[in-house]
Amino acid sequence: MCRIPLGRLKIVHRAPLAGGSRCAILPSMARDPLLTFTDRGIFCLAGDFHIDPWRPVERALITHGHSDHARPGHGAYLATEGSAPVIRYRLGDIRLKTIRYGETRRIGSVTVSFHPAGHVPGSAQIRVERDGEVWVVSGDYKVAEDGLSEPFEPVACHSFISECTFGLPVFRWKPQAELAAQLNRWWAANAAEGRTSIVGAYTLGKAQRLLVSADLSIGPILTHGAVEATTAVLRAQGLALPPTTHVAPGIDGKSHPGALVIAPPSALGTPWATRFGPAAEAFASGWMALRGVRRRRGLAQGFVMSDHADWDGLNAAIRATGAERIFVTHGYTAIFRRWLEDQGFEAGIVATEYEGESLDAAEAEAGPLIEPDAGAEAVEGAAPEEDTAEADPAAGEAAPAEGKPRRRRPAAGDART
Ligand SMILES: [Zn+2]
Ligand SMILES: [Zn+2]
Repeated sequence: MCRIPLGRLKIVHRAPLAGGSRCAILPSMARDPLLTFTDRGIFCLAGDFHIDPWRPVERALITHGHSDHARPGHGAYLATEGSAPVIRYRLGDIRLKTIRYGETRRIGSVTVSFHPAGHVPGSAQIRVERDGEVWVVSGDYKVAEDGLSEPFEPVACHSFISECTFGLPVFRWKPQAELAAQLNRWWAANAAEGRTSIVGAYTLGKAQRLLVSADLSIGPILTHGAVEATTAVLRAQGLALPPTTHVAPGIDGKSHPGALVIAPPSALGTPWATRFGPAAEAFASGWMALRGVRRRRGLAQGFVMSDHADWDGLNAAIRATGAERIFVTHGYTAIFRRWLEDQGFEAGIVATEYEGESLDAAEAEAGPLIEPDAGAEAVEGAAPEEDTAEADPAAGEAAPAEGKPRRRRPAAGDART
């Protein structure tokens, strides 16, 4: 057993191989782990920086622009060129430097580089190397191509910190083309019957995936302000996205019959949505794979579409890194860790905390979207976070106060020393 207490949040490496601890493979682990887990986030002492910290730090490396990863208040930011515009849009006047995918940069005594994570446009995994020892922080990722994000690139490493939001075999996604066909069939049927089609989707990533999936011959596409604003940022950086009309006064079901409306999930079922007259509502999320979530949201239709890896994607991505040590975070961590141990990996859980951070302007416009909650027990009962910016607000029983993420409960089975 190799135990590495790391400040307030502790990691326990489990499942040593027969004949001794796997920590012996990397002698440097014994003296000074390359990355540690603190109450501010993932920390690299040798480079004196944090990765996606959730509390203010001097220097932050940011995987992507979702609000649970790119938070305000850091002294300096480093992010990819592709994620910088949305981070700037959301966080305002910050000290942000950019880096290209694959470009290496020396920080302190380590070398860092950013590699495509396939999650949303510009999203990255972050590789950290010191004296031949390599760690990779996945951020959020998916391995299936969505026609928009730079495709996921496996990065060889010794230690891989992987999200496992959808780390259960029940989560298996259909290919993008099939999801697009499903969306268009539903939209066309609604339009033929004189109904507007309203889809709830997160403003960064999912909303634009719907845009590139939509068959423009069916009708016009209307967007809620939060979706329109983020889409405009992505258009300005060169992404080819179809034309949309912002839902302003005078834009409704009469002016745009048979429209497809893309809005943040929290706009579904609100007075805002009544302007479209007879309408069908759907939610595009990985959580739509769970019948209980669909039922609670009162949705007849759900599109099982996620910007996170499904069960097969997680397993394929982890194997592709060649890593022997896996840390899991986000979602079904306890179950997924046990699964990894059964596969012969050394596996640990990274417990994270979120509290008292405010939503960015785009999400705030749409109302509270946060329901961070994770645990092994959360199978059909409570959907854990998909992303702080992407969580299902109706899945849990207790909604958080507006703009305040609820304190995250430690995952059941978290190993602590
Ligand atoms: Zn994300
Ligand atoms: Zn996330």
